[in-house]
Amino acid sequence: MRHAAIARVGWLLAAVLLAAAGSLAIALRAFGEHRARFETEARIVHRVLSQHAAQHDAILATLALLQPASEGSGAPEQRLAALYPQVLQVLRRSGTGPWSGVPAQDVPALAAAEAASRAAGRAALGPVDLAAGRYWLVRSGDPTSYALRIDLTALPPSAEGPPGAAVVWLERAGQRFTLQRGAGGEGDTAASPGPRLDFAKTLAAQSQPFDLRVSEHIGWARWPWAWMLAWSVLSALSVAAVAAWLHQRAEQRRNRELLRLGQVGRLNALGELAAGIAHELNQPLTAVLASTAAAQRLLADEGREALPQAQGAMAQAAQQARRAADVLARLRRLVEPAAGSTPQTVPLAALLDAALDLRQPELERAGVQASARCEPPDLRVTADPVALEQIVHNLIGNAVQALQQVASADRRLELVAEAAGARGVLTVQDSGPGIAPEALPRLFEPFFTTRDGGLGLGLSLCETLAAGMGGRLSGANAAGGRGAVFTLELPRAGNEGPGDGAR
Ligand code: ADP
Repeated sequence: MRHAAIARVGWLLAAVLLAAAGSLAIALRAFGEHRARFETEARIVHRVLSQHAAQHDAILATLALLQPASEGSGAPEQRLAALYPQVLQVLRRSGTGPWSGVPAQDVPALAAAEAASRAAGRAALGPVDLAAGRYWLVRSGDPTSYALRIDLTALPPSAEGPPGAAVVWLERAGQRFTLQRGAGGEGDTAASPGPRLDFAKTLAAQSQPFDLRVSEHIGWARWPWAWMLAWSVLSALSVAAVAAWLHQRAEQRRNRELLRLGQVGRLNALGELAAGIAHELNQPLTAVLASTAAAQRLLADEGREALPQAQGAMAQAAQQARRAADVLARLRRLVEPAAGSTPQTVPLAALLDAALDLRQPELERAGVQASARCEPPDLRVTADPVALEQIVHNLIGNAVQALQQVASADRRLELVAEAAGARGVLTVQDSGPGIAPEALPRLFEPFFTTRDGGLGLGLSLCETLAAGMGGRLSGANAAGGRGAVFTLELPRAGNEGPGDGAR
């Protein structure tokens, strides 16, 4: 029964491990898919923003190239805002005059950017206010220089639709502008549980070197719970199916073994029956023999006339009776159970475990707490294994029957194998009602039974089998406790241990 509980825990563990390993693989695969999608989308955002930056460069380059024909020839660049929503303002500065139309504090920065643009031969970054999402881009030209004021809030992060779950922002010199807040708001980038995906790359425009950052948190809600659950259920069902199949196979093996034992038992019982009949018939036959012999003597004394006939008949009767006795004696020799069996070395621990395992369903049904103990664990005896099994099963069967008479909470069965010098001693003790005092001296008599429907041959057979193996079987009531204890002694096999061998 302890084996069954251990097996159940083992199967449960196998199901849990299988479910966990499969769920982990599913989660890793889903995470891999999230990462691939995230990287594709982040690269698209980078490409789109870089294209916009390049566009700003191109606008300024075009303006610088197409210098106005003369002062006052209009300002066509002012129409740019209508074409590009992100262009908030376009300024121009001609000759040596200062930049006008901007706050005074921005003028030096614009002048510095213009100088940088002249030196680099391309647009240069002017004053940047990323908190408001705005910056100036300046291109020096001769005689007119231009400056664009760009509004980042008018730029979508991606032309193909933004990666809604991710947070997207631009960074430069400690300033930050958030283009998209992500599914969980900007707090999404904070340390919330679950894996996180990150992307960082500077825009591909030398004039506007903003760092693009994209970050996405894979929250619990986005894990593939349904698949993981389905896999776990599938693993549990598969493990249960394998366990049920193996259990069924063990049950079949157990049934086959019980059938075999039953067959052996029936054969042995038949032999015991024949032995009992022989025992029963031998006495009347002996009496017939004695009386016919007496009659013969009487006739010989008194009926002289009939003497020859009577003598002949009586001699014949005596001869027949002797023949019958001979036949019975032969029959008895024939059914001697131990005849022809070969003694072998039998390890008792394995034998007890196998016996309990075989009777496990029956013991479980009867609510019997059974245990087996072998000391030393490698204790072995010389015996006919089939006969020994037969004895142990008979004793267990008797104990289970006796235990039916006590409350199910009190049903205990203990099998103990111990070494006692040159003998191996096996005891089968139950917590049943014990053996009635008047039954004690007759336990091993053939046909003695106190059970309705009992044959009274089990213990008699066991005793014969034990004797056939050079052993001894005895039965008694448990000392100082309830129940019966049956003790089987058998010759110990192999080394008898220190000091034992001489006995
Ligand atoms: P049967 O089981 O057919 O009665 P057995 O030879 O096996 O024949 O048993 C003979 C008798 O011994 C039983 O009827 C019963 O009275 C007694 N007996 C055997 N085992 C036990 C036991 N464990 N506890 C009490 N009595 C027992």
